[in-house]
Amino acid sequence: MTVRRIRKYGAEVLRKPSKSISDFGKKTQDLFRDLEETLEKVGGLGLAASQIGVNMRAFVALDREKEKIIKIANPEIVFTDSETEIDMEGCLSFPEIFFAISRPKGVVLKGYTNSGKAITIEARGILARCFFHEIDHLDGVLIIDHASRQEKEFWKEKISRLALHAKK
Ligand SMILES: [Zn+2]
Repeated sequence: MTVRRIRKYGAEVLRKPSKSISDFGKKTQDLFRDLEETLEKVGGLGLAASQIGVNMRAFVALDREKEKIIKIANPEIVFTDSETEIDMEGCLSFPEIFFAISRPKGVVLKGYTNSGKAITIEARGILARCFFHEIDHLDGVLIIDHASRQEKEFWKEKISRLALHAKK
């Protein structure tokens, strides 16, 4: 098991669309283990594979109610709540930066567990927000893409410092 380096805004890998996982062998197991261990170490709510430099459709998310880490491969949104809510959202790839982002209040995902078992999972509130955020990552979409011009202006210095120091 390995704690991996988290890629920050400006790293190319964060902008590339990720590929579906078709083989649930050792490589995928190792990927999920690294994601889980890295998330536990840094103490975030969710982490997508692209954030540790791997463009595969996998993410982990902390379910705080059940106190467990959910591991999902190849997620697909099958239902979106029509009601939305705005909340402050951060990202491990944007340390100390937050944007007010509107997300649906609930979601149902279809996908696979880390061992390749098909699952359907429902989430509301913060966990639903986390799912939308992580699926965005798999498509190369980042929180800054949801931000208003004013917000980007407000965080301008921090953002440019991140981009300047971005490593592959
Ligand atoms: Zn993120």
